[in-house]
Parts: sequence; structure tokens; C-alpha cells
Amino acid sequence: MMDEEVLVQLRNIVGKNRVLTRGNELYTYSFDATPIVQAQPDVVVMPGDTREVAEILKLAHVNQIPVIPRGSGTNLAGGTVPVEGGIVLNMTRFNKILEIDEKNLTATVGPGVITAEFHKAVEECGFFYPPDPGSMRISTIGGNVAQCAGGMRGLKYGVTKDYVMGLEYVLPTGQILRCGGKNYKDVAGYDLTRLLVGSEGTLAVITEITLKLLPRPETKRTLVVFCHQMVDAARIVERTIAEKIIPATMEFLDQATMQVVDDFSHLGLPRNVAAMLLLEQDGSEEQVVRDVDRIAEIAREEGVADVQLAKTAEEGAKLMAARRSALAALSRLRPTTILEDATVPRSQLAQMVEAIIQISAKHQVQICTFGHAGDGNLHPTCMTDERNHEEIKRVEEAFREIFATALALGGTITGEHGVGMAKMAYLPQRVGEGGIELMQAIKQAFDPHGIMNPGKVVAKAARSRVVVRNA
Ligand SMILES: Cc1cc2nc3c(=O)[nH]c(=O)nc-3n(C[C@H](O)[C@H](O)[C@H](O)COP(=O)(O)OP(=O)(O)OC[C@H]3O[C@@H](n4cnc5c(N)ncnc54)[C@H](O)[C@@H]3O)c2cc1C
Repeated sequence: MMDEEVLVQLRNIVGKNRVLTRGNELYTYSFDATPIVQAQPDVVVMPGDTREVAEILKLAHVNQIPVIPRGSGTNLAGGTVPVEGGIVLNMTRFNKILEIDEKNLTATVGPGVITAEFHKAVEECGFFYPPDPGSMRISTIGGNVAQCAGGMRGLKYGVTKDYVMGLEYVLPTGQILRCGGKNYKDVAGYDLTRLLVGSEGTLAVITEITLKLLPRPETKRTLVVFCHQMVDAARIVERTIAEKIIPATMEFLDQATMQVVDDFSHLGLPRNVAAMLLLEQDGSEEQVVRDVDRIAEIAREEGVADVQLAKTAEEGAKLMAARRSALAALSRLRPTTILEDATVPRSQLAQMVEAIIQISAKHQVQICTFGHAGDGNLHPTCMTDERNHEEIKRVEEAFREIFATALALGGTITGEHGVGMAKMAYLPQRVGEGGIELMQAIKQAFDPHGIMNPGKVVAKAARSRVVVRNA
């Protein structure tokens, strides 16, 4: 329960309509896109500018109240679940594109700008912002930055951290600071910009973001390859890159995912192949044609079942949309869908997919895998039912083995979704006890009272996926 005096002060800062305390309102903010984790905040506050954020944080710091920054709540790591109650800081009013600087190739935005709307705005000016998480139609740029979101164009263009040039942020004490800016070169001191990108709301609240833009590629083409075996798909990826062709997108779907996607999207995908590779190249017309032709040749040399070139941009867009629909299609199968993102070096892709198939059979849980073949980022997705506690135990065990296998293959526990609370238990295995201690010391320096998004990333007590209801 929030102290009535604190509520009065919050209403004084943002206005009474921007402070939500009703049961149904709090319930809405008790979960995000992560299954099986839920906890209710004490209050939801919707600030409209940096000064208001600073005032709220000062109040929270003095009273030692947890603060959970939130964009659209699409994260898959329980990152916005208020496990210790407190204030959910809804940042969606920071939804202005403040500047598109054509001379410096930068854009400055509020964290609440919707990712796809940002894409559209910069593309209308002839520019290109590559990070494209599958959730981009609803996710915010602030959430993308705080999670260091990836997407389908990661192989060629990198991820969100490669585009964040500068930030305005507010410390839990209420101090407003800036780091980075429009300089392409800047090595003045520690790189706090990079530290804040991917900090998952545990260090500070980001209130303004300056992003790097690229010129919009002239054209793009899409190629689909159907493979008899997953290992063929992996070899095509390896050979393509070894020939120094870096496609913008190299996605794969395993057989089970293909079938479900086809039932959902009615694309007429073949049912008897082991995997589908979806490739897209962008750039100049000449380079795109050359690269796509060569990839098709490599695929045929590998004896694949079929190679199809999208005839029109619309056909290419339809295929990419089908890939984007994979999660939606899978989530129709059972009441609870757990989407994970174990990542391995690209050369271990086939081995990892094979291991997931075996682990899924061993624990008798349904896991379909799709993901970013070009950068080794797999999304093993489990269709389950959270009400079946016995099955959930088997699911937990299967994922424990999947992450252990990824680590043994030189991979990592998350390639883009972050740690939040869902992966905390695995973090020490990835970064070591020394790494955890250093991260905790950094956290302490930013947030001495531990009010910023407590219970996440480097919190003292790691939880695995549990239902937490404090309503
Ligand atoms: C269907 C689907 C597909 C997805 N596909 C991808 C994908 O391809 N790649 C990928 O990387 N992720 C993907 N995700 C995960 C998720 O969408 C991304 O992580 C996204 O970046 C989250 O944005 P959001 O606005 O919803 O942030 P939220 O979920 O609201 O917040 C995410 C984290 O950022 C923090 N945060 C938010 N705003 C701020 C701020 N202003 N200051 C400080 N901290 C802040 C929060 O505290 C939280 O820890 C997908 C999710 C779904 C549901």
C-alpha cells in the first residue's frame, strides 16, 4: 500500500489523472509479455517531461520506493513486472520525434516513440533505422534501448546498441544527466551510453535518445530455401558468409514452426522439409541481384529441396510477415507460450537445434525453434499450460538444459531479450561470480538505495520463472 502523503505528492507532480491507483488499472500493469510472472504495483504514474521524472525519482529515493520504468510492456524477461510493488513509471507520453538531423544523420526522440512509427518517419526522409524487433509495431524506442533489442537485420546491421549515440537520463536521486551525443567519435571517459543500453531499467530512467541513421538502401530482394536437413541450412549460412556476402536477413524456421505458420498464414509451405531459410539482401540493384543469385547457387549446390525467389516486393514482404507471425501462430496451440532466446556462435547452429529437439523429446514438452540463423540467435518456443504445474516443472528443466547446452557450445543465455527476472538464475553461469559482483557494484554506484527496477538482472536473490501475485 502506498503512503497517502506520497500519492498526494505524485498527484502534485504529474496531475491527478496521471496517477492510477484503481484495482483494474494496477492489474493491467501487473504483467508484461512474459508468461507466468505477475505482481501488482502500488501505483502507476505517467510523467510527461524530464523534470517530472526527476521529481518522482527524488520522492521515491527519499522514501525508498521501487520504480519500474515501462514502455509498452512487450519484453519477454519479466523486466517490467513490479515484483516488489512500488511505482510503475509509464513512459509512453514521451512520444515525440524531436529532431531528424539530416546533416549529422541522427534522430533525437523521446523514449515513448513506437519503433515502427519511428521507422516510418525516418524512411519518409530517405533514411533507415535498422533495429526491427518482432514487436516493433507496439514496442517503444526506450524499451528497445533499455533491452538492447535486436531483430531480423542484426547480422548485417547490428542491434540497438550500434545506433544509440547519446542519452538524457535521470538518476534515482533525481539528478538529470547526459552522455554521448551527435559526435561520431567520442572517447571522453567511460562509455556510459553503452552501459545504459541494455541496463533494463535497473540503473536510471532514460528520457531522451539520440540515434544514428543510415541512408535508405536502394532496393531489396527476398529468397526462400527449403532444406531436407537443418544442417543444410546451417551450411548455406556458413558458406554464404565465408564468401563475404552478408545478407540483411537470414532467418530460419524448423519444420514444426513452418507447419504452424502455414496453418496460420496459408502460404502453401511444403510439409515434408526439415527447415526453411528466409534470406533478404538490400543495397544497390546490381549488388542485390549478384548476392541473391549466388546464394541461390550455393543452396542448389547443397542439394536443398527448393529455392524460390520472391517475384515482387509484395511477395517478399508477405514471406517476411509470415516469419514475423511465427510467435503469434505458435501461441494459438496451447494456453501458455514461452519464447526464449538461447544464442550460439553461428557455426554451432545445427548442433544447437538438434540438441533442442532431443531435450524437448526427453522432457516430453513441445518446443518449436525459429530464429536468426545469420547471428546464431535461436528462439526455442515452448507451448505449454501454466496451470499444469507438473508440466511446467518439465518445461523449466528442459530450458535449464537448453541454456546449459548453449553455454557449453560457447553461446549465451540471451541474445536479445535480456535477463530481467526470467534469466537471473542463469546469469552467474554466463558472467561468473566476479562479473556479478562488478555489476552489483555498478548498480550500487547508480542506485544506492536499490530502488530502480528491483529484483531484476543482478538482484541478490535469483528466482526462476514463478508466479508472483501480491494483489
Ligand atoms: C511478439 C514479440 C516479438 C518480439 N521480438 C523481439 C525481437 O525480435 N528482438 C528483440 O530484441 N526483442 C523482441 N521482443 C521483446 C520486446 O519487444 C523488446 O525487448 C522491446 O525492446 C521491449 O520494448 P517495450 O517498449 O515493450 O519495453 P518494456 O517491455 O516496457 O520494457 C523493457 C525494459 O526496458 C525498461 N525500460 C523501458 N523504458 C525505459 C526507460 N525510458 N528508461 C529506462 N528503462 C526503460 C523496462 O524497465 C524493462 O526492463 C519481442 C516481444 C514480443 C512480444
